[in-house]
Order: sequence, then C-alpha cells, then structure tokens
Amino acid sequence: MKRTHTCGALRRDHITKTVTLAGWVASTRDHGGLIFVDLRDREGLAQVVFDPAQAPEAHAEAGKLRAEYVIAVTGEVTPRPATSVNPDLPTGEVEVRASGLEILNPARTPPFEVGEASRADENLRLKYRYLDLRSRRMLGNLRRRHAMAKATREFLDTRQFIEIETPLLMRSTPEGARDYVVPARSHPGAFYALPQSPQLLKQLLMISGVERYYQLARCLRDEDLRADRQPEFTQIDIEMSFVEQTDVLDLSEELTCHVFGAVGIDIPGPFATLTYQEAMDAYGSDKPDARFELKLAKLDAVFARTEFRAFAGVLAGGGTVRGIRLPGGGSLSRREVDEFESTARRYGAKGLAWFQVEADKLKSPIAKFLSEEEQAGLRAASGAEAGDLLLLVADRFPLACEVLGRLRLDLGRRLSLIDESAWCGLRIVDFPLVGYNEEEKRVEPMHHPFTSPKPEDVGLLESEPLRVRAQAYDLVLNGVEIASGSIRIHQRELQEKVLALIAMSREEAAQRFGFLLEAFQYGAPPHGGIAFGFDRMVAMASGEGSIREVIAFPKTAAAVDPLTGAPAEVPPELLRELHIVIERPDDGEKDQETGG
Ligand code: ASP
Repeated sequence: MKRTHTCGALRRDHITKTVTLAGWVASTRDHGGLIFVDLRDREGLAQVVFDPAQAPEAHAEAGKLRAEYVIAVTGEVTPRPATSVNPDLPTGEVEVRASGLEILNPARTPPFEVGEASRADENLRLKYRYLDLRSRRMLGNLRRRHAMAKATREFLDTRQFIEIETPLLMRSTPEGARDYVVPARSHPGAFYALPQSPQLLKQLLMISGVERYYQLARCLRDEDLRADRQPEFTQIDIEMSFVEQTDVLDLSEELTCHVFGAVGIDIPGPFATLTYQEAMDAYGSDKPDARFELKLAKLDAVFARTEFRAFAGVLAGGGTVRGIRLPGGGSLSRREVDEFESTARRYGAKGLAWFQVEADKLKSPIAKFLSEEEQAGLRAASGAEAGDLLLLVADRFPLACEVLGRLRLDLGRRLSLIDESAWCGLRIVDFPLVGYNEEEKRVEPMHHPFTSPKPEDVGLLESEPLRVRAQAYDLVLNGVEIASGSIRIHQRELQEKVLALIAMSREEAAQRFGFLLEAFQYGAPPHGGIAFGFDRMVAMASGEGSIREVIAFPKTAAAVDPLTGAPAEVPPELLRELHIVIERPDDGEKDQETGG
C-alpha cells in the first residue's frame, strides 16, 4: 500500500477519492460495531471508520489496533455526518471509510500518552524523547526551529554573508565557562577543547579577508546548569570587517525582525537604545523588560547628608541608594511587605526599607530617622503619590539596582503589568569593559577579553579600569538577552594590555592566544560581531519557557541524556590507548585504577 495523501491534508475537495494514508494510531473507539481510528502523521489527524458491513476483514483487523501502532489504510473520503463534524480539526469535515488495513508495526503501550507528555515527568519524556517528539506541540517546535534557521540563512545570504564551519576539536576559547575536553590519542597527555564559541576562529577569518562570516554554530560550555542552560547550544554567530557598532546592531535588529517575522511574529522596530548605565539606573537590569514602566529612582542626592546610619554608611563607602515606587502599594499588608523584604535578601540585599506614602507623611519604621527635607526629597525623586509603597535598597552598585530590578520583575508579574502579547526589543550599549569579581577578588572581562574599549576610554585602562566602557552591546527582547557582541581589538599592543589588565601574564597570554596575537601582526582589519542565542529565540517564538522544549535531544539539568545514557564509562582498553588513569573521587590516593 503506497501512501497517496498525508493525514492532515484531507479536505472536502477529496470527497469520493480513494486514498491511502499511513501513520500512527492516535486513538481508537468502538461504537457499537463501527470502529473509529484517529490516524496521525506529521501533518495532522484523520478520522478513519471501519464498518463491518462494508469491509469485514479490515474491520476484524482494526479490532487489534492499539495506540501508536503503525498502519496503512485505504478507503474512500466521505463527508462526516453533520453531528460528528469537528470544527477544531482542519480535517474535521471528512472521514475515510476504510476498505483495507495493513498493520506495519505493532507498538507496546507507551509510558505516557503522546500529546499528553507535558504532564509526564521530564526524565521520562527525555528517556522516551522519540515518543515525546511525536506530539503536535514538539513537532511544531522542531518545524519552527527549522523555519527560523532557514530564515536566518536566507537573510544573511542576501547580505553577502558566507556560512563557514569552524572546527569542534580545537583550543580553548574563553567565554567564561569551563571547557569540555577531548583526549588526543596520538598525543598522550594532550587534549582538544570543544569550542565555547567560534570566537577566535571567526576573528581569524576576518584576518583572512572573509569580511562577512556567519555560522549556526554549536557551542559547548561545561557549566553548572543553573536555570535554563544546556551544555551544548546553538548560536547564530556573526563577524564583519570594516564596521562600527551601529552597523552590527542595525544588521542584528533586522535579522531579529526577519527571523521572527518568518514564523508570523511581528517585532516592532526600531529598537530603543539604552546605555548599560541607563538600563541599570532605570530598570535595575542590563536586560530590561521594557514592556512595563515601573522605573527605579536614584536617591543618592536625597540622602547625601542623611543621619540615618544604614544609608550614610553605604554612601560613604561608595555605594548607592535606589528605590522603586509601587503605585497603590500602600494598601498591601504588613505580611506582603515582609515578603518583599525576604525576597530582597534572597537576591543579595542586606535589607529593604519601605515607606507607605500618605497624603501628609511617610509611614515606615525608619521614617523617624529621616529629616523633613529627606522625606520631601524622597517623595519628589520617586514621584510617589498618596497610596503608594516605596521600596529602597542601599548597597554597592550594581547590587542595589539588581535587587530592585528583580523585585520590579516580580511585581510586574504579580500585578499583571506586563503585556504578554507585546514584543519589545532594545539595544544595550556601552557595557563596562571589565567588572570586579567579588568572590575571586579580581577584575574580569564583562564580555570576553577580545572586546575593544571605547577609544575615548583607552586612557583609563591603567588608572581606572572599572570605568572603561567597551564597544560591547546586547540585543534584548522582552527582558531576555538574545544576542551579545562587540567590536574587537585588532591590534596586538592593545590586546596585550587588556590581557594584562585581567591579570593574564605575558607567558600565559602567549601560550593560550599567541596565534591570535601573531595574526594581528599580519594585517588584521578592524572587525566586530555578535552571536544570537538561537535556542532561546526559538523558545520565545514558540511560547516555551525552556530551551529544552525546542532542542530535539536536550540534556537534563544534571547534563545527562536519559535516552542514550550519556555520559557513560568507556572500556578500559580505550582508556589505556588514551593513557588515561581514572581516579575516582572516593578512591584513596594510592588506590588508583586503570580503566572502567
Ligand atoms: N563569542 C561571543 C559569545 O559567545 C559572542 C560575540 O562576541 O560574538 O558570547
């Protein structure tokens, strides 16, 4: 039996035609002799009717059908009786009166009902991913991903970009995560690193004269998988020569609108541009969700001469006081306000000050410590009106802003201030070149070490590195960073200076990036680029909260693949060939063993 139509294709026009369909049994119902089967293939569902009076053999065979059996059916397309027309189904006006049935393969009872997988445990879904992917939702996600990848390629092709593959087996690229490494059998003790991104190679391609490169590139980062990360993910990776920041951002914005447009999502442009400082000041985040207002206020000037010790101490130490106004929040209960406080502490604040705004005064346990002038200043600076609630955090920058930024998002969700159907893109520019890592007590790149400082700030590199702004930028969509990039350094001396700034010795720099530093001496053009988190874009376009829903075979939060069992041990012979001795975490020092 050769398939003539897909299940999802049948319409009124096909009535009287004899068709052969093939697919999976979605469900069967026995209605007093008539057996109804919903048959599913990639394109949709068709209703097939087995009538003992019409086709006794096929009907008898149909009695054996269970969910997920693979079958081929031949029959005539007929109109459904008016009472069983299903307006929700594209094929809902017709059915197939079966004359023949072939069972191509029976199936065991699946561990969860296909299409109902979202109710199943995620480990189970991943173990039986092939069943999970049979659902309309998951198949739809894969197809949307395909459409967005295709649109990416089409768009970049019209802009003269060349897609070039870069190696997976390479040297370490620093993107701030740990490398996955692969032992090199023929070089005992040596390892390849899997790329955290193609960063260095795309820069080399600019030195090659490629001018416009892109790649749908797989990136591999061995991180503790917090939130919604995957050890391997896909970037739309772009690099361009002879460009400035705005060129890269203009192209990236157009690409974003084109790619979402290809799946029916209209993203309004042009995107507003905010500097990093403006974004932090107004929204407490470098990836603001600007679909709702509720902005932060800077209150340093209000409390510049305050006697209130907590604020005075923070300001004297170079910190900042920031606040957010919650319109109408004055009526929240004490318990609710206390909850904000514990949330703020969870986000890293030492405390949260709050004020209920009344017509003639501010009500708060700390109001008595503030002068009349400070109270008036606080009202004015925050735009507070009677009935509002003010929340304040005093801490170092950027923590004070970040805590309020996170509270702002919580409040936005809780008070339904966010228009979930809106799309709001932003460009964030002028990121600091480096940040201070409090834990490791050292300066580290905010983006990566190949990012160029703004020319006017180069003079501050040695004296005030934390004040140097970079030619680094992000694209943000609905509060999610979807792309990040920079204009690169293309001169050896400047690159060495920046590497030294992040405490990399000349020897280490030469050892790790000597090849790039050398290449800079052979005619490196000015260049810059960007990389988009493709999985995240597809997840957003699909209305999915997790990128795992748009990756065919993702890993769990523990970086495990329950389907294939990766990662797994390897046979001892292989380890011997690789000259690898495994020392298990609980083995004694002397108690080393070779092999699996
Ligand atoms: N390689 C960078 C990243 O993976 C993106 C870029 O600068 O182009 O974040």
